[in-house]
Amino acid sequence: MSEVYLDHAATTVVRARVIDEMTRVLRETGNASSLHAAGRRARREIEQAREQVAEAIGAHPIEVVFTSGATEADNLAVVGGYRWRRATDPARSTLAVTPVEHPAVLDAAQALVEDAGATLRWIEVDEHGAARVDDLAEIVTDPSLAIASAMWANNEVGTLSDIPAMARICADAGVPFHVDAVQAVGRVPIDFAALRITSLALSAHKLGGPQGIGALVAGRAFTPRPTSHGGGQERRLRSGTLNVAGAVGLAVALTAAEEERVAEAARLGALRDRLTASALRIEGLQVNGHASASEPTLPGTLNLHIPGADADAVLMLLDAEQIAVSTGAACSAGVSEPSRVLLAMLGDDRRARQSIRISMGRTTTDADVDRLLAVLPRVVEQARRATGYRDPRG
Ligand code: PLP
Repeated sequence: MSEVYLDHAATTVVRARVIDEMTRVLRETGNASSLHAAGRRARREIEQAREQVAEAIGAHPIEVVFTSGATEADNLAVVGGYRWRRATDPARSTLAVTPVEHPAVLDAAQALVEDAGATLRWIEVDEHGAARVDDLAEIVTDPSLAIASAMWANNEVGTLSDIPAMARICADAGVPFHVDAVQAVGRVPIDFAALRITSLALSAHKLGGPQGIGALVAGRAFTPRPTSHGGGQERRLRSGTLNVAGAVGLAVALTAAEEERVAEAARLGALRDRLTASALRIEGLQVNGHASASEPTLPGTLNLHIPGADADAVLMLLDAEQIAVSTGAACSAGVSEPSRVLLAMLGDDRRARQSIRISMGRTTTDADVDRLLAVLPRVVEQARRATGYRDPRG
């Protein structure tokens, strides 16, 4: 039996073209900072990749700063952006983020609170996980606000926030605004130039590119303090020998994802709606986030609350059926913590431990959804039996 992979939000299948192009580049020697022919060849690859990435999201090539992934891009924007603002105006000591951010933003902000005396203000979210735009409108009137950051699409529930509206509020108030667009890139239309945001983080491995490469797309006026120091590559914002094959892989993946975006959104949205309709026939199941793909959500990401079932047990039972899904729970030191995203959205600890994420992608087929639906009622029943759950209908 082949594996049914439904964890595309964690990482997705690398595209054949990406492998071909990266293999071609890996066969060549050259440090993109060297002046000889080999170095110039590597530099040409980098600059071509930069142009392709810029074109795909409506940015200027000079705005694309290659990083080791979105974690680094988010840290550079949040930590570096905060330090830059504070250095130019010491009264700017507050950061604003949503509580449903990825740890790359959330923990970076927390580190600034602990190490740099920053004050944190929350841009609260609604019950679907979307940032409250009105909250941000109030927060930007705070004269101590240094920088704001919000994610476009939530990685656990798929909900989209109204980033264009939030960007306008920040731009009008003169507050730098960083957007973690990791899950949104290639899935929602993005025009960096029209958005008026200061920076945006993206990652190749969510698009069918390789792991370990991403970019911070940063407007020219945004000059975050570097978070690592060295050779001064990438506008002196991100030192380190450039990952030539990685940048080429990112560019190929992003271009392909953009080309497929509209058709894939329709196809995955239909799969999501079919999966939702069938899953909700199982007693008690509910959707965390938006139930219908016609609402502001990622078309391929579905988060299900299964009352009376431990999410880890559901995951393991599905794994035994060779079906890969995930829980939002973070596991540290062997102790599973409830999903911070669901806690922030719903304030319900139990629900946050009883929810699974099913995320579909480019290679997901109708047959994959059928396989999941064929075993889900039994898996739910088994997981519930372990907790002594009783069907409230008697
Ligand atoms: N931000 C979001 C919303 C993500 O989903 C992820 C990946 O899980 C990241 C940031 C981190 O990206 P990377 O794996 O490139 O460091």
